[in-house]
Amino acid sequence: MSQIVLILSKDQIEKMRKHYASYLMEKTPPGGVFSAKIENCTITAYNSGKVLFQGKNCDKEAKKWGNPAALENPFEKKGKGNNLPPNISMMNAIGSDEVGTGDYFGPVTVVASYVKNEQIEQLKQLGVQDSKHLTDKKIIEIGREIKEMIPFSLLTLHNKKYNELQKAGMSQGKMKALLHNQAIGHVLKKIAPEKPDIIIIDEFVKEELYFRHLIGEKSIHRENVVFSTKGESVHLSVAASSILARYAFLQHMDKLSEKAGFPLPKGAGPKVDEAAAKLIRAKGKEVLPFFVKLHFANTDKALKLV
Ligand code: MN
Repeated sequence: MSQIVLILSKDQIEKMRKHYASYLMEKTPPGGVFSAKIENCTITAYNSGKVLFQGKNCDKEAKKWGNPAALENPFEKKGKGNNLPPNISMMNAIGSDEVGTGDYFGPVTVVASYVKNEQIEQLKQLGVQDSKHLTDKKIIEIGREIKEMIPFSLLTLHNKKYNELQKAGMSQGKMKALLHNQAIGHVLKKIAPEKPDIIIIDEFVKEELYFRHLIGEKSIHRENVVFSTKGESVHLSVAASSILARYAFLQHMDKLSEKAGFPLPKGAGPKVDEAAAKLIRAKGKEVLPFFVKLHFANTDKALKLV
């Protein structure tokens, strides 16, 4: 489906509301000023000044009100450097992100989720944003809400399995690529026959290497896939996925802490070495593979502390 975004002033939006007075819809989405439906085009204006034209006939309609930068097919603009379509933040998108790769304790969690254009405002109101700016408490609060609102797939690579793959020679990059590709596949299946306008992967490797990691996989999702190093600020679907992945990670850390008998720290700093040493003293070093990522330097440091 084609869609165009214009940024307009309050006055212009008021003018539009009058213009479309006899086509107004009863419901407007959260944060919306009005929605109107004419033949082959739905127009939704938001408090933020964004006006969205969706449908077959939207080029002509949007041109009446402004000069959209995004009239052309966004994928034709793909060039070197920034290959993201200019209206990406307003698209119906699957976004994926992972958590836990830098933490000694706990699993790796990967989430892909689908956020439709009309949900973007609502998610913003809920406080969905870059998860790095959110406290754990807020993550849990928001995570609970959004998991009911959007289709998503959560994949958890538990420590034992992680350590087995790592020992067998698999890089963390490859593990992540496999998980992202799988999670995206699950979401595509969930939303079928609907298709996202775009799939955004929070970039952890370059595109070329990502697809090289996937060689040999049964289904490789390539169509409309883009990579962004700042995925969370590019589209809310990546931010939502990052929150859900962190939410799941925190829950696993709680469970592991319960098993350990004391709270396990995040990250990979000196506190983590201390905690691992404490765990070894209490339960023996054979339990480590179930709690930690063994190949981290923390393992040797912890063993020296015991
Ligand atoms: Mn990320």
